Amino acid sequence: MISADTIEAVRAATDIAAVIGEHVRLTPRGRSYVGRCPFNGCEEAGEVTGFHVNPERGFYHCFGCPEAGSAIDFVMQHDRVTLGEAVHALAARAGVTVVTVPPYGPPAWRKFGRHSGSRP
Ligand SMILES: [Zn+2]
Repeated sequence: MISADTIEAVRAATDIAAVIGEHVRLTPRGRSYVGRCPFNGCEEAGEVTGFHVNPERGFYHCFGCPEAGSAIDFVMQHDRVTLGEAVHALAARAGVTVVTVPPYGPPAWRKFGRHSGSRP
């Protein structure tokens, strides 16, 4: 699986307004952008201001449907891909190297409380 550091690096290096702007016509409003929600079945889909993107904080949200999150979440929801595919696509775009880690937890010997009863 992809390391948490990679996900953070991709988030930090990605211009969310540019990513979403490829699919949604965004209009600047103050420090944010507004546009029509691109998600199917959204109550605000016809509203030019229903969908908000905040580049400073790196997230989007919609007033008409539950969709919200980072640029990674947007790619996952919009392109219907997995987290890994979304991170790889955005990492390639931002020039971030993807680091993977084994998909399991810490080794068994580190499990909390294993030796707690035998110590003084
Ligand atoms: Zn929506």
